[in-house]
Amino acid sequence: MLDRPFHPFSHSLHAATRVAALARQGGARLDQDGAFPAAEVAALAEAGLLAAPLPPDLGGAGLGQGPEGAAALAEVLMRIGAGSLPLGRLYEGHVNALGLVLAYGDVAQREDAAADARQGSLFGVWNTDDRQQPLRLEGALLRGRKILASGAGWVERPLVTVATPEGPLMLLPVLAKGERADLASWTAQGMRASATGAVDFDGLPAPPAVRIGQPGDYHRQPLFSGGAWRFLAVQTGGGAEIFALLCQHLRQLGRDADPHQRARVGQAAAALEGARLRVERAARHLAEDSLRPEAVVAYVDLTRGAVEAALLEILEHAQRSVGLAGFMRPHPLERVTRDLATYLRQPAPDRALEMGAAFVLEQEAWPW
Ligand SMILES: Cc1cc2nc3c(=O)[nH]c(=O)nc-3n(C[C@H](O)[C@H](O)[C@H](O)COP(=O)(O)OP(=O)(O)OC[C@H]3O[C@@H](n4cnc5c(N)ncnc54)[C@H](O)[C@@H]3O)c2cc1C
Repeated sequence: MLDRPFHPFSHSLHAATRVAALARQGGARLDQDGAFPAAEVAALAEAGLLAAPLPPDLGGAGLGQGPEGAAALAEVLMRIGAGSLPLGRLYEGHVNALGLVLAYGDVAQREDAAADARQGSLFGVWNTDDRQQPLRLEGALLRGRKILASGAGWVERPLVTVATPEGPLMLLPVLAKGERADLASWTAQGMRASATGAVDFDGLPAPPAVRIGQPGDYHRQPLFSGGAWRFLAVQTGGGAEIFALLCQHLRQLGRDADPHQRARVGQAAAALEGARLRVERAARHLAEDSLRPEAVVAYVDLTRGAVEAALLEILEHAQRSVGLAGFMRPHPLERVTRDLATYLRQPAPDRALEMGAAFVLEQEAWPW
């Protein structure tokens, strides 16, 4: 239904399908330490997807804005994630950064960021500090490093946080491609092509013009925790890809009529649809203003656990149904399962469940 020609976001949806197909083709080639999907990011730019999250008055498509825009963005993230989880991670960071600038930046900052996105610059959100050398401001200069920064060496407009007594302050400095990045520590099992590494900001200018919003804005709810639905969408795309590979494998081997295989496929299909529905509902909740911020945050917090469980279930069914072949390179299942298992590791899952449960316990009636 989302693909019907008159759908307001049909251009973005079709573009996502095309870029995902390209990314799927290049997945095996890019499964190397230090790799980055440069051609695929260029294809995102070419297809208008780097600018699509901007509002129309800034040259975008309004993708992600309003409940319908949010549902369309969820579908776009799922499609890109299905084509490549590393590319989906990078695009999710880009969308997140633009959203923060749109929410908290001033007019000049919004226009500046929009112009760069339209010209094909990749954005990202780098929040994780090196414990020994956390990022900090000394006058108008930056000191310290960020770690676990996706697109390190490629992202030209990173939205970074520096700690202040009033909470994290967001900055949007300018980086040149190829500088300050160190990918040596990214030895993860999967997501090798996400160029996730350390970035050294020492001595980089950070004049007042690059400071976005006020200290503490970065943690403002419901955007901070509620925005987690976007990584869930990318992850769900990876789950959809694994499901498709599973079905393809069973058909090719003529094992699709076996009742045990059918039982696992049926359970995986139900888990996938559950994840898709929850992600779309979470996206809509954040975009609507009918719920209190605490209710939106709790919904997304609980969705995190539910989607994680669904995707782990799909992983297990696929590995058990395909068997050893799914653990052998170059079977695409071998790579995509590694990517998904790695990307499922996101911050503080236990806390999200606990906070969601605490909210539900405070309510007299069903809160959603
Ligand atoms: C592919 C990839 C790309 C990434 N890109 C970026 C990026 O661009 N920018 C960025 O800022 N970050 C990025 N990250 C980092 C990401 O945001 C998280 O910081 C990271 O994934 C956290 O994973 P973790 O399992 O170590 O989380 P943790 O929060 O450490 O969770 C591990 C376990 O410990 C539990 N736990 C957490 N806190 C406590 C506690 N205080 N006491 C007891 N138990 C606890 C959790 O519930 C969980 O069971 C990326 C991560 C990945 C995988």
